[in-house]
Amino acid sequence: MFKTILLAYDGSEHGKKAAHLARGLKEVHGARLFVVHAYEPVPDYLGEPLYQALLAQRLERAEEVLREALALVGEAEGEVLEGEAAEAILRAAEAHGADLIVMGTRGLGGLKGVFLGSQSQKVVAHAPCPVLLAR
Ligand code: ATP
Ligand code: MG
Ligand code: MG
Repeated sequence: MFKTILLAYDGSEHGKKAAHLARGLKEVHGARLFVVHAYEPVPDYLGEPLYQALLAQRLERAEEVLREALALVGEAEGEVLEGEAAEAILRAAEAHGADLIVMGTRGLGGLKGVFLGSQSQKVVAHAPCPVLLAR
């Protein structure tokens, strides 16, 4: 049923649960799987050479998180995207024509009492397709 699944991964415990679900669904449905990890932009008022140094650091860390995700899900295509996670996830879902988004209810920033993280809330509110939230 699902042909194109998008996994949003932030390295959190819930993100790992989402990765396991995405892997299972990909295999059961014979779907393509895209994995995205978004990193925060570096403010350009920092100027050079700080801007480039911080950007390189952030990109390197983002690639590391993405590699971790790819190791969890098996065959998949991955990309790191700059910007707010929800916006990046929604853009990627649109770009790849995802028919399912898989993510966690919460992530790294999570306050214990909060059931749904802000990024999950935004994605559920605006997604063009069903969203599966791992908890
Ligand atoms: P908040 O960010 O609102 O403080 P939180 O970190 O607990 O709270 P979210 O950020 O909404 O909650 O995380 C929910 C899910 O969103 C994560 O499990 C993950 O699937 C996805 N996600 C969060 N941040 C990113 C990111 N930078 N890149 C890709 N996916 C992300
Ligand atoms: Mg978060
Ligand atoms: Mg956040």
